[in-house]
Amino acid sequence: MKRIIYIPFDHLHRNFGALKSANPAVDVIAMVESARMTTGRKWHKERLFFLISSARHFAQTLEAEGFTVEYIKAATTIDGLKVIGEKHKGLGVVCAEPSSFRQYEALKKHGVTFVDNDFFLTARPLFKEWADGQKNYLMENFYRKQRVRLNVLMDGTKPTGGEWNFDKENRLPPPKKYEGPAYLEHVRDEIDEQVASELGHTPTTTWATTRKGALEQLTNFIDNHFGEFGPLEDAMTTDNWALHHSLLSPYLNNGLLHASEVVDAAVKAFDSDRVPIESAEGFIRQIIGWREYVNGMYWYLGPDYRNNNEFHAKRKLLPLFSDPNKTQMNCIKQTVTDINERAWVHHIPRLMLLSNLALVTGTNPQEFLDWMREVFIDASDWVMVPNVIGMGLHADGGAMMTKPYAAGGAYISRMSNYCKGCAYNPKLRTGDDACPFTTMYWDFLDRHKEEFAKNHRTSQQVFGLKRLSDLPELKVRAQEVLKGLDQGTI
Ligand SMILES: Cc1cc2nc3c(=O)[nH]c(=O)nc-3n(C[C@H](O)[C@H](O)[C@H](O)COP(=O)(O)OP(=O)(O)OC[C@H]3O[C@@H](n4cnc5c(N)ncnc54)[C@H](O)[C@@H]3O)c2cc1C
Ligand code: SF4
Repeated sequence: MKRIIYIPFDHLHRNFGALKSANPAVDVIAMVESARMTTGRKWHKERLFFLISSARHFAQTLEAEGFTVEYIKAATTIDGLKVIGEKHKGLGVVCAEPSSFRQYEALKKHGVTFVDNDFFLTARPLFKEWADGQKNYLMENFYRKQRVRLNVLMDGTKPTGGEWNFDKENRLPPPKKYEGPAYLEHVRDEIDEQVASELGHTPTTTWATTRKGALEQLTNFIDNHFGEFGPLEDAMTTDNWALHHSLLSPYLNNGLLHASEVVDAAVKAFDSDRVPIESAEGFIRQIIGWREYVNGMYWYLGPDYRNNNEFHAKRKLLPLFSDPNKTQMNCIKQTVTDINERAWVHHIPRLMLLSNLALVTGTNPQEFLDWMREVFIDASDWVMVPNVIGMGLHADGGAMMTKPYAAGGAYISRMSNYCKGCAYNPKLRTGDDACPFTTMYWDFLDRHKEEFAKNHRTSQQVFGLKRLSDLPELKVRAQEVLKGLDQGTI
């Protein structure tokens, strides 16, 4: 039967979603570049460039295969679908289940028929079945189930290498003056240039906008970075902006790569003895564990989850998030500069710098979430909401994580080379030179000591608070820090 197949910009794979069963001889492809998506918010232009150029390239490959492709610009997706519907009267619209609550509702209301969303390795009902049976939703428990269910890195019923987790080996600080292999650059073509010119943007060469480029990025990771991924996965250095991270999240999230393709390539490299177990396990955990868990939790916890604000945090977004010149904190200045340049930093700056700062300063979770959504290349709703509300800000009261990821300057000093070039001293918590992270970490614990004392994972830290003889001075310094951060002078 003839159909209109609607392809959202994050379903760009020929073998998955509604395209899996598509026939170029009869099906019409609908793609909509909505103004809501392009101009609705202050999106990072690198992000818009990546999403739009990838979609236009994908449309071109479908046309080359013989499909009738209706790629149009409209005020909203639904407006676009109405125009295409008028042109192809009488045809029903089919789409794989969308990846956000908002789009799900809008398409359902428009009468779109859904097929299963198979862009993940775990179907939504299967995740629900797991979550329904849990007392708390520990990612580690989910991950072990995934290893067994998907039969990845298993020797019969035992985990390969004898352990489920090699975290102990994977916490190295950055080596001194570390360069590492050159990063892959993606050459721009006519479509890229057209999109860039429409956006008034000069794109980097960091992100591919085609399936071919995404596959090259995967091969580059496996050949040049995978072996060292594990040990250095938490390190941060000004010498090398990505160390050995894969840079694959944008393609996994827009569909240019499927998780199964990435897992297969990783397992193949491990089976041929090209990478040690700590890297293989560490990376595979990110894909079959964290990524699947976060998507599962997004759907399981529901559309209101994003509004959680357990600590009643009200502070407005600090100016340093939009302008790195509004801070003297070297770690934050470097991180925001990196984001401005290429719309990406790895998971530790996202968690232990940006989210940590928002957490300990009592920044409003929804304001921070909006900013994170706007500036990251890979920021889909399903992944940003649980990572920020649950993992980064603990705004859900512990539904996802057993304790908040709050840390002072000592952690950042150990895992990076940022502190050497900083105006502040990570060891100090009071005085003009005190590291704002260190001061605010203790102040945060003090502000919430009653609730943290009840949690066995945080009670130890609260106990440490009792040993601080300079707590009164620290509280005064914390107020100065907050004022300085609000004014963009700290
Ligand atoms: C506060 C916060 C916000 C984040 N926001 C996003 C986001 O909007 N989009 C996004 O894709 N990832 C997000 N992440 C997860 C992670 O930071 C990025 O996936 C990763 O930095 C992308 O770079 P990479 O592809 O080189 O990842 P690698 O370090 O090479 O990891 C491999 C893959 O594992 C997956 N992965 C790892 N951690 C997570 C996680 N916590 N949640 C989901 N997938 C994960 C990603 O698909 C990633 O590509 C966030 C993490 C935190 C702590
Ligand atoms: S001293 Fe504090 S603010 Fe400065 S770089 Fe280190 S952690 Fe960041």
